[in-house]
Parts: sequence; structure tokens; C-alpha cells
Amino acid sequence: MSNQDFREFDPDENAVDISDEVIEEVTGHEDGKNGNTDKKDDKPIEFCYMCHRPDTITGPLIKMAPGMSICKDCMQRTFDTMGSFGFGGGDNSKNNVDMNKMPNISFLNLGSLFGEGPKIKNAHGYGEAKNKEDRPAPAIDINNIIPPHKIKAMLDEYVVGQDYAKKVMSVAVYNHYKRVATGTMDDIEIEKSNMLMLGPTGSGKTYLVRTLARLLDVPLAITDATSLTEAGYIGDDIESVVSKLLAASGNDVERCQQGIIFIDEIDKLAKKKNTNQRDVSGESVQQGMLKLLEGADVEVPIGASSKNAMVPTTTINTRNILFICGGAFPAMDEIIKARLNKHSSMGFMADLKDKYDEDKNILQKVTVEDLREFGMIPEFIGRLPIVFATEMLDEDMLVRILREPKNAIIKQYQKLLELDEVKLEFDDGALHAIARKALDKKLGARGLRSIIEEFMLDIMYEIPKDDNIGQVIITEDYIEKKGGPKILVRTTGILPEKAAAQ
Ligand code: ADP
Repeated sequence: MSNQDFREFDPDENAVDISDEVIEEVTGHEDGKNGNTDKKDDKPIEFCYMCHRPDTITGPLIKMAPGMSICKDCMQRTFDTMGSFGFGGGDNSKNNVDMNKMPNISFLNLGSLFGEGPKIKNAHGYGEAKNKEDRPAPAIDINNIIPPHKIKAMLDEYVVGQDYAKKVMSVAVYNHYKRVATGTMDDIEIEKSNMLMLGPTGSGKTYLVRTLARLLDVPLAITDATSLTEAGYIGDDIESVVSKLLAASGNDVERCQQGIIFIDEIDKLAKKKNTNQRDVSGESVQQGMLKLLEGADVEVPIGASSKNAMVPTTTINTRNILFICGGAFPAMDEIIKARLNKHSSMGFMADLKDKYDEDKNILQKVTVEDLREFGMIPEFIGRLPIVFATEMLDEDMLVRILREPKNAIIKQYQKLLELDEVKLEFDDGALHAIARKALDKKLGARGLRSIIEEFMLDIMYEIPKDDNIGQVIITEDYIEKKGGPKILVRTTGILPEKAAAQ
């Protein structure tokens, strides 16, 4: 474990170990077990025999023997551990345990003994990383869930185009949080709205999810599927995605359990064809993710990315975590085309074989069948019921991306130059030229910034030199490297020598 890990773990939040000085300070006594304190009711502070936390943090302790009291968290943990070894409920036939002799303790909720009701059960009784008072109230209230049209309207301010994707996501998120807010609806269990988003690189998949999480004010963790491997192999464990979300939630278990996990490059988990080796980073990861996607209790380290004996852990239930998987799925277009051509190539109404060759948005016709053909296992696809694709960005969309969003790149540069009291403008032709260059690079909208940066470098360098410059107009010629930008001095008029110099 690195020093970094030690520093990240805040003992105040998760008090597992308390040094002698702290005990002395709290109790006024060296031994810290039964000393009198300043507590208002003058009751001595007692410490859990197992985790050493004071009862001011853990709540009332359970007396096991004289001088040995245990907090309900440690007790619950012990019961759960015993339960998982087959001493409790569940199928014990394999373990040869006589159920009549063993109490069914794994279902015991110690929280209820202390009058805390089922709330403790939800937070799993133990491992709550923050004091309840510090934490904002759970954000999800059935009456306050933002309806889909409003979610989409908010997304519209930042994300250009992608109307279908925005609509699907808004509805899915709305349903998801409705499900979270209500728990279960009578006997009709609402299924999770995990999503699978296909789309070319740079078409805004990550950006959509990021914007959505920010607008909804829920924690978000973004992971690359390529870094994940089956447990025990070099790489990140699958459960590390939940650790990331916990870190993004500021170690707040309740917030974490309502967050969003985005797993990018999911197509890289496709089953490898014609291989006899164990596929530890592909199919096995898909298998390993099944229980996370559906909802399971996972033990994750607090303040570190890997589990070891030195790091405290907490239990996160992934039932209400929304999983969004994204990927470019290269070569998927061929699979879809082959399927479509097969269906439509017979009979009088037969289509031309190349009918779909020009269809840029063929990914939107994807079906579960195609995903299976690509190498995703059926159980995995089954746990991502909402499948949709983002559109391929064309020149006009790229121009809109440059210009329209609230934090558009152009607006950012304009703001920067405004601070130097210089007005920056881009010709229509210049914007189209930038978009064309981005299309050539085949990086989608991701290429736009690097192209603009290349051209803005000289301008950002030169402008602070000369106080007379009042306006800069970026022209198509400048982008096409056939001329320079138009530079206007404060008293109108073009400085010909400046323009020529560029
Ligand atoms: P992907 O995840 O699909 O590969 P990204 O979401 O990383 O692509 O997109 C890269 C960048 O392009 C984003 O940071 C965002 O600034 C910009 N971008 C992409 N699509 C859009 C869009 N539809 N509207 C506004 N900006 C976009």
C-alpha cells in the first residue's frame, strides 16, 4: 500500500482505529475503556471491542461479556460472515448443517434492535463512511424527479443533435430514478434501465453521460473496459468500478448507491473468436459484470483502488446504480449490413446489395442478434435492456458543436480574448473548414479542439503584444493556410501589414 493510500483515507469519516491520544482526549483517561467523560448525560464512553470506535459514533454497544462490548456493525458483519458460510438462511444442504440447531441469523437486522428501522438495512448496517448529519438528504424524491422532457431540454443546452439518444436517455434515467425512489412497487418489480450506447468515436457518448450526471447532480465514475480483467489477473478487478464511484461520491455510501457508472470501450470485451486460451479480459469480464449490473453487494475499499488487509472496506449495493456501457463497435456495421441484406435479397421486392453501404447511421439499426454475433454474451446483453446508438457527426453538426453549446469551444476562446478586450469572430467559411478538417481526421468532435488550438496559438501569442488590436476575424483562408486572419485596430480599419504577416 502506498503512502498515497494512507493519506486518502480519512480516519474521522470511517473511524476504525483510534490512537491513544484521541482516546485520552475523549475520555480523559489513559485506558479509554470506561472513563467518565464530558458527555452531557455523564455516561462513560465505551469502545467497540472489535473496531475500537466509541459508542458516540457507533451507537449503543452490545455487551458480550464484562469489558467486552461490540458495536452493531461488527456484530452484523460477524453474522453475515457466518451466514455466508452456510450457518444462516439459504441452501445449506451442501454444508450438512442442521438448520434446527442453528439460528437463522443472517436475516437478523441489528438496526431494528436499536429502533432504527429498516434504514440501516438499506445502508447495509455497517460501513457508512460519513456521519448522517454531514450528508445531504437523499436526493431522490418521487415528486421531485425531473421529467424526461425537462432532462432533454437541459441536455439540449450542452449537447448538439443526438436527439434520439437524448430522448432515450432522458426516459431511461427518469424511469430509473422513479424505480429508485419507490423501491419496489407492490409486487411489480421494475427492471433496471441499464443502457448500452453504440456510436462512432467522438460522437459524444462520454460527453452525454457526463452532462447527464452533472445536470442530475449524481456521482459519476467513468472506466475503460480495457483495463478490467478477471479477478486474480493483472489489471483492475471488475469491482474497482464501484470503488471509483465511491470515491466520486466523496465516500458517501448512500450517494454512491444512486450514482452512474459509465464503462467505455465495452466492445473490447467481445468474445475472442477462434481462441483456446482463457479470455481473462474479454468474455470473463462480461461474466464477472453480470452480478454488478443486476444488483449485488460488493465489498469495496474506502480511499483506495485495491483491497488489502490494511484498507477499510465498505459494502455497496449496486441495485440502484445505473450502468451505462458505451463503445464504438467497429465492424458492427458489416454485421448489420449482412443481416439486412440477407433479409432483403430475395424475391421480387429484393433490395440492391449496396443499399446500406451509404447509410452512415447504420449502427442505429442494431439488434440483440447483431450484438451476439459481435461477441457479447446473451446474459450480458440481457442486463442492458436499453440499446441505442449516437449519430455520426456530419459537417453541419460539427459546425453547430463549435458554435452552439453553452460552453462551445469558440465561446471559450471569445471569453479568453474578451479579457484582453479583443473581439474574436469566426467566419462561417472558417467554421466549415475546421469541421472538414475534423472529418478528415475521423476523430469526430474530439478533433475540433486540437485543430482550433493549432490556429489560435499564433493569435493568442501575438495579441497581448499590441494594445491597438480590437478585433480578430478568423477566415476560411486562414484555416486553409491560404492567407491570414483579419485583424482590426480599435479605430476600425484593417492593419494590412498584420494580415499579411500571418
Ligand atoms: P465519445 O465518447 O463518443 O468517443 P466524447 O463524448 O469523448 O466522444 O466526445 C469528445 C468531445 O466532443 C466532447 O468532450 C465534447 O466536447 C465534444 N462533443 C461530441 N459530441 C458533441 C455533441 N453532440 N455536442 C457537443 N459537443 C460534443
